Amino acid sequence: MALDRRGTPLWDVDSGPERPPLTRTARADVCVVGLGGSGLSAVRELRRLGASVVGLDAGRVGWGAAGRNGGFLLAGLAPFYHDAVASFGRARARALYTLTMHELDHIATETPMGVSRHGSLRIAESDEELADCAEQLEVMRADGFPVERYDGDQGRGLFIPGDGTFHPLLRCHALAEQCIQMGAELHERSCVTDVSRGRVRTEHGTVECDLVIVAVDGRLDVILPELQGIVRSARLQMIATAPTAEVQLTHPVYARWGYDYWQQRPDGSIALGGARDTAEQEEWTTDAVPTDVIQRALERRLRHDLGVHAPITHRWAATVGYTATGLPVVGEVRPGVWAIGGYCGTGNVVGSLLGRGLARWRINGDDSLVRPFIHADD
Ligand SMILES: Cc1cc2nc3c(=O)[nH]c(=O)nc-3n(C[C@H](O)[C@H](O)[C@H](O)COP(=O)(O)OP(=O)(O)OC[C@H]3O[C@@H](n4cnc5c(N)ncnc54)[C@H](O)[C@@H]3O)c2cc1C
Repeated sequence: MALDRRGTPLWDVDSGPERPPLTRTARADVCVVGLGGSGLSAVRELRRLGASVVGLDAGRVGWGAAGRNGGFLLAGLAPFYHDAVASFGRARARALYTLTMHELDHIATETPMGVSRHGSLRIAESDEELADCAEQLEVMRADGFPVERYDGDQGRGLFIPGDGTFHPLLRCHALAEQCIQMGAELHERSCVTDVSRGRVRTEHGTVECDLVIVAVDGRLDVILPELQGIVRSARLQMIATAPTAEVQLTHPVYARWGYDYWQQRPDGSIALGGARDTAEQEEWTTDAVPTDVIQRALERRLRHDLGVHAPITHRWAATVGYTATGLPVVGEVRPGVWAIGGYCGTGNVVGSLLGRGLARWRINGDDSLVRPFIHADD
């Protein structure tokens, strides 16, 4: 991925073969807008079900948050499980959590390269947060989900055994390759300027199709302004260090109510993100450029709390979508135009699930992967 204003992520790898921009009128059953983890998951499932697909991205495959995130693979939605139960009801929260656990297995099977399943930690940094962890543990155990109390080198809190990490950009590239092999037509550098029933326009081409799926997390409210007030774009930022032996962090960590997160990669480098609440108003933006305020906060966390002094080699930002409820968007926004997004900063697993789920639902009527996202009474 070329250097750009958004900085260079730790995951920077050879972007692979360029997929040509769309410069003609193409015809397909489905047009998928956005080739991140969610869109590619939709494209793959659509091809598996026999639909013809054209996929479009304004940049390159994995150009958005899918190739620029923290690399956590976590079961559940953005709210902690007990908060999800309180907000969505027990049966619905349980169904949502179960679907994401299965999706995690699916991701590990579909694109195993770079996936590691050693569990994750939720670390508490106050008595109040520790009490909240205890509540989460109780509710998860009552519903039969794997969770353990953690008290070890990395602090105190919870250990979730089924979670993991991955190399997010590698997954995008692997998925794109699979999609091509399965007969999908993918176009990069093809910014979508207009979406309507049966037609998607880019700067230099058009796709005529029966169904449009917009799989864009950040900027969803820009492409589909009807979603303003439902999804709001926000910037998230990260840093990464050179490989270091100063610490041995065995598990990826979510700390301070999930505002901060870090992991040590197999080569010893550390990827650390968060601190969004340090400048919350400024971070409600589609301008995905690292800022001094957040970058300094991340450095403080790295130097003072983790005690790591290795040089910082990468700084980057990307845009994601937040909803007020913590539930992502999945629905028909315009006639024939469906959208998924608004994962509230945790879209690696849920985005993949909804991409697949929406494809299945629209092609063969099987709504089993999306139903609890839509109906409260399941
Ligand atoms: C710093 C950071 C850390 C994160 N950490 C984690 C984490 O550890 N775990 C986790 O689960 N989630 C994490 N997330 C969230 C996660 O990355 C996203 O929710 C997820 O990647 C969204 O994937 P997506 O495919 O839906 O969207 P994106 O990856 O954003 O893909 C959307 C694509 O649409 C394209 N696009 C946009 N507009 C247009 C247009 N007009 N025309 C054509 N194409 C367009 C973009 O170029 C982009 O490639 C993090 C996000 C960030 C930014």
